[in-house]
Amino acid sequence: MPVPLSQMATVAGYVLKQKLARRERYPLVLMLEPLYRCNLACAGCGKIQYPSNVLKAQLSVAECLRAVDECGAPIVSIPGGEPLLHPQIGELAAALVARRKYVYLCTNALLLEEKLPLFQPSKYLSFSVHLDGLAEEHDRSVCRDGTFETATRAIRAALARGFRVTTNTTLFEGADPERTAAFFDEAMRLGVEGMMVSPGYAYEKAPDREHFLARERTVQLFRRIFAAGGARRKQWRFNQSPLFLEFLLGARDYECTPWAMPSYGVFGWQKPCYLLQDGYAQSYHELLGATEWRRYGRASGNPACRDCMVHSGFEATSVDHAFSSLRGLAAMARATLFGVAAPAPGSMPPRAVPAAAAPDAAPTRGWSADASPAALRAAFEYRGDVTLELEGGESAEGYVTDVGPSALRLWTRGSTAVREIPVARVRRIALTGRDPAAGKSFETWKQRQAHAEAAPAAS
Ligand code: SF4
Repeated sequence: MPVPLSQMATVAGYVLKQKLARRERYPLVLMLEPLYRCNLACAGCGKIQYPSNVLKAQLSVAECLRAVDECGAPIVSIPGGEPLLHPQIGELAAALVARRKYVYLCTNALLLEEKLPLFQPSKYLSFSVHLDGLAEEHDRSVCRDGTFETATRAIRAALARGFRVTTNTTLFEGADPERTAAFFDEAMRLGVEGMMVSPGYAYEKAPDREHFLARERTVQLFRRIFAAGGARRKQWRFNQSPLFLEFLLGARDYECTPWAMPSYGVFGWQKPCYLLQDGYAQSYHELLGATEWRRYGRASGNPACRDCMVHSGFEATSVDHAFSSLRGLAAMARATLFGVAAPAPGSMPPRAVPAAAAPDAAPTRGWSADASPAALRAAFEYRGDVTLELEGGESAEGYVTDVGPSALRLWTRGSTAVREIPVARVRRIALTGRDPAAGKSFETWKQRQAHAEAAPAAS
């Protein structure tokens, strides 16, 4: 059983309670990001490109627990950044376990073996280890050699000490179905409890945006992986809803429910979802009330949502579906008992569809303009410090984390002091700091790609 019965029962009871209370929007998994800094710089990651003062900032245990208590979701996933870099991560995990939250601590596992003594094995705690494929594919994905070996050694050590361990895998354009199927076999041989898979999302700030999958190709890739697995796929255990897998396989369609997996981090509650950054709310309650949900999701026509099939948007939808009708429940029971419906692969479009909303025209360092809604938006979307000329000749420099109708929030350059500045006071805006999103890891990824393409094929 890939998900323990007690966890399934807790989630089922919780969702039924929401249904009985007729709550249209409720949280299922809190994505708690206590910090953004990381010890890797993966090409597909859009989470770590911030000025150094932001990367040094972290939530305290008390701030994390306040968010957990306010939100009330039964599952807490801790991505990041790399959560094992947080100095109180052991204390945080213990406090969440004491609250009987099911915790998925998402880690690249570079530090896991060394940090295991900070944790106690518990049915509430799982290490969710980032592995994007077999050694070659994973090391390329995270832009560092030897990472797969370190991570798998840590997985064995954690399992030997009685911890729950799962893997989490993000698949990109160009993933080889046979190799991915072989990776799933390998994960099962390692002895992990289950695997979580998701297609990548084309983060606007990710160094590599060319290798994200458009919707049709996502479906075809997952079908090909399942076809490549043949009879072996019966051995594969997934630590996620089988109906979500059927969504990835194109056997059913869903709309996203991003409020069900809200994201809380150093800037607050991220609007509208883990993937997009359209500002921040200061409470989950405010997030629910202040977000214009109709502007998001595939049906909205928002180009940023067009190709999204990511688990943080859609997995909760599949869980909600299972508990919304007898038909949903029957579909869930059938997929759990007899395996997911995996249609045969069809024809593939010849080339990848370019990712939506490419930031070609995004202003870069040195750009400046008089204050206007568009200029404020540019300042908000820039991943470096900006300089604001204010009325009365004053200027303010820092990182803009939110722009509201009447005020913006600025993390003052080099510190974590947050200033609220009335929008009406801003006269001119200049992008003055270095943009870490246009950084070195892009080159590293490109160089590695070129190297891989030039290398002779293995015999
Ligand atoms: S479709 Fe994806 S990117 Fe758009 S709101 Fe939903 S989860 Fe976020």
